[in-house]
Amino acid sequence: MEKQMQLLRELQEIDAGLDQIRDTQQSFAPGLDNIKEDISLLEAAGQEYQQELAAKEVERRDLRDVVERLKGLIAQSKEKITQISNNKEYFAVLKELEHNQKLVEKQEVELQGLIEEIDSIKEQIADNDKELEAKQAELAAKEKEVASQIAALERKIKAGEKGRTSKTKEINEVFLRRYQRIRKRFKDAVVVAENGTCRGCNVNVPPQVYNNLLKGQELLSCPNCQRIMVTSNESDK
Ligand SMILES: [Zn+2]
Repeated sequence: MEKQMQLLRELQEIDAGLDQIRDTQQSFAPGLDNIKEDISLLEAAGQEYQQELAAKEVERRDLRDVVERLKGLIAQSKEKITQISNNKEYFAVLKELEHNQKLVEKQEVELQGLIEEIDSIKEQIADNDKELEAKQAELAAKEKEVASQIAALERKIKAGEKGRTSKTKEINEVFLRRYQRIRKRFKDAVVVAENGTCRGCNVNVPPQVYNNLLKGQELLSCPNCQRIMVTSNESDK
């Protein structure tokens, strides 16, 4: 029985080790997910900037066409005005000329503003691209780094599982099933009982049960928490 208790303790140690390795392995995922999240945000921002840029470019082309057309009209009016002898006609053309000149001035200011806006969007796109590139490089480096770490952990897990399998072969099947069942609730399915107390739940074990445990003739569970109790190696012997 003492041998079985010892084996269960050893199995628990192996399982604790495996849990720890698996936790370490899983802990890599959130770090990568954060970078991936940043990348998709930057990609979405990049697309929005591109759409904004395309719309502004269309606006600019249209406005430039308007300006060119007005400049054409102004040139025509200037040409015409030199050939007019009639006063009434002269003032009509002059009025149109002045009107178009004012209009073209206004449109050119607007066009200049639009060009500045476009330049600023292009700068934002460049900044965004730079940031995106940096994040992609960071992800690639992290993935490479983590891949080798994960591979090393997987080797450890394989070795641990092999050790576990050979350990379980030595353990009584009934005990093993009980251990597995309890371990679903408590990571420490096997606990030490000393000085009449279960160290799993820190509740006193009934004296009769504790005496039976010390005799070491059967596998006993704590009546309070149901964990498998073993006597500590040092004391109580
Ligand atoms: Zn207990």
